[in-house]
Amino acid sequence: MKFALVTGGSRGIGKAICLKIAELGYHILVNYRSNNQEAEDTLNQIKTLGGSGELMKFDVSNSDEIRASLDKWKENNPESVIEVLINNAGIRKDALIVWMKDEDWKDVLNTNLDSFYYITKHLVQDMIVNRYGRIVNVVSLSGIKGLPGQTNYSAAKGGVIAASKALAQEIAKKNVTVNCVAPGFIKTDMTQELEEKDLKRLIPMSRFGNAEEVADVVAFLASPKASYVTGEVVSINGGLYT
Ligand code: NAP
Repeated sequence: MKFALVTGGSRGIGKAICLKIAELGYHILVNYRSNNQEAEDTLNQIKTLGGSGELMKFDVSNSDEIRASLDKWKENNPESVIEVLINNAGIRKDALIVWMKDEDWKDVLNTNLDSFYYITKHLVQDMIVNRYGRIVNVVSLSGIKGLPGQTNYSAAKGGVIAASKALAQEIAKKNVTVNCVAPGFIKTDMTQELEEKDLKRLIPMSRFGNAEEVADVVAFLASPKASYVTGEVVSINGGLYT
């Protein structure tokens, strides 16, 4: 059996990624933080489509929880390697910097950036030994362009982009690739309160994207077909260039 971990896999973009990667034949480890019902629903949909998976509940902003969960899984699956890692879980807590609370800066950095470090560091060693791996990080247009009101989120996503480029070079020889996808406006719970009818004027394609359109690109980068692509950032934003 081949294993893939999708963080924040229970809802939104992560859920669509779980379903697409299951089609590649992977047993999906669906990570989430709190919403058990949504996670169960996602797992059921994977199974309905003929795939397999299991739930892996931990908070990606908590390094102790990450370590405990991944160590426990390895103990139960000593011969298995998680060869695909999708670092997707993320949050935003927007405010102009003068109004930003210290805890909102830290929460966003911990959840979006530190999680990349702790989870990737834990799993990449097996990928290197195995001489195969695919790491895909879900970043954002904010991490490329910077968006006002999102200094915390832009810093975190920009940090993941830079770290991905560095790591890609560290491990390219081991046949482990590291890439990012940078969505623009995608219809999920995260963007629920945004007005598509006002914002679509900024987007050449005149609409928000959907989670499946992101998941298709992620699935390609996570597949053996993307064998010569590493250190890249693919924008998925309907032409909303920087
Ligand atoms: P979403 O609909 O809010 O879903 C977030 C997912 O992440 C949920 O499965 C949630 O699990 C999980 N999650 C959140 N915090 C977590 C934590 N600390 N530990 C473990 N899981 C956690 O978000 P989305 O729109 O799909 O966004 C997915 C990724 O795309 C994020 O990295 C986001 O920054 C990025 N992105 C989104 C957009 C957009 O327009 N939607 C644009 C650019 C980039 P629970 O349900 O258990 O909380």
